[in-house]
Amino acid sequence: MYQDATRSGLPSVDKAILVLSRMPGIGRKSAQRMIQFLLRGDGSEIGQLLQALDDLRQRVGVCVDCHNLAEGERCWVCMDPLRNASLLCVVEEPADLLAMEKANIFRGRYHVLGGRLNPLSGIGPEQLRMESLRQRLQSGSVDELVIATNPTVEGEATAHYVAQLAQTSVARVTRLAYGLPMGGELEYLDESTLYQALEGRRQF
Ligand SMILES: [Zn+2]
Repeated sequence: MYQDATRSGLPSVDKAILVLSRMPGIGRKSAQRMIQFLLRGDGSEIGQLLQALDDLRQRVGVCVDCHNLAEGERCWVCMDPLRNASLLCVVEEPADLLAMEKANIFRGRYHVLGGRLNPLSGIGPEQLRMESLRQRLQSGSVDELVIATNPTVEGEATAHYVAQLAQTSVARVTRLAYGLPMGGELEYLDESTLYQALEGRRQF
């Protein structure tokens, strides 16, 4: 039994651990446990994992309309005829779309940017799906654009860029309000959250 990935003496094991531990939320310890699990028994777990990964690679791509993940040309949101096509929500990643859907409050469609502006890391508008967003907006079918990028410095910068892009083609451009967390108490909030909550106040 090896204790340390660097001392397993098995290059294939070390390599698999290295690959797995690059994934978000997986440290080296977790990666080691996963490998130990996979190597146990007759190899059927490895077979199933390989099959699942191969299916992922073969079948999952991005939606031609919104860039959400999709099996096939369009994602399940874009194929839903009950969606309000005049309401468009811009998010950074497919996971953000899923979070919105989980809340079950939004009945429009989405545009997934594929990240957020971050000039220091070389991510400008060309690295995101801004051009296809511009084209969607210019088609004139969108009445309201809801900007739901994350409340971070880069998410804010991205929101401003998107708002500018929409300025001439969309009647109403909105941004998700910065809420106070439910169950939270004012005295424990950081200043910027409280400031944004006050700025975003609405009629009672
Ligand atoms: Zn779609």
